[in-house]
Amino acid sequence: MQFTRLRLNGFKSFVDPTDLVIQRGLTGVVGPNGCGKSNLLEALRWVMGENRPTAMRGGGMEDVIFAGTARRPARHFAEVSLTVDNADRLAPAGFNDAGVIEIVRRITRDAGSAYKAQGRDVRARDVQMLFADASTGAQSPALVRQGQISELISAKPKARRRILEDAAGIAGLYQRRHEAELKLKSAEANLLRVDDTIEALA
Ligand code: ATP
Repeated sequence: MQFTRLRLNGFKSFVDPTDLVIQRGLTGVVGPNGCGKSNLLEALRWVMGENRPTAMRGGGMEDVIFAGTARRPARHFAEVSLTVDNADRLAPAGFNDAGVIEIVRRITRDAGSAYKAQGRDVRARDVQMLFADASTGAQSPALVRQGQISELISAKPKARRRILEDAAGIAGLYQRRHEAELKLKSAEANLLRVDDTIEALA
């Protein structure tokens, strides 16, 4: 899967609708300090399902909404849309009926955030899984933020293993295993209740 377009509207310093076409190959973003380079990378993480305010350099998730300046009022919502080329049809079921996938995440003040894929409401988990299976995702080491290289050098082996697993595209399996374990526990609890009921009837 290849990212082809990123659209921002009211996200952090990108108050006006901004459209970026992402070409094949390596993409570099250059500009003076404070022009919004890191905000672009954060928009990419956010639309892929990042939910930790600290990863967005904020105190709460609503901090991604344009906060206003001396000349412009704050916005009420922020929206980021990511277009992905799925010509190789590697997207998981539920997303794989189209050669081009458009994911939109929107956050509205006091109303939380919601996702859409191809214009239909989808769950955060589905979007996170889509990108985890594609060896990318909100926490992907493919998106290198400032200071990350030195963190990596001093990281513990377990943390480094996570990076290799992510690159291998198996990060989504952890979430699925966790969900399977929860289902198993709930099934075991139900079985115990059935045993108790049978015992009571006997
Ligand atoms: P550097 O090269 O110094 O790392 P940068 O190009 O990566 O800078 P960013 O850190 O992406 O720049 O952008 C910082 C700018 O974004 C600051 O001017 C900050 O005020 C602005 N900004 C961050 N969040 C918001 C927000 N919610 N509303 C409005 N502006 C914001």
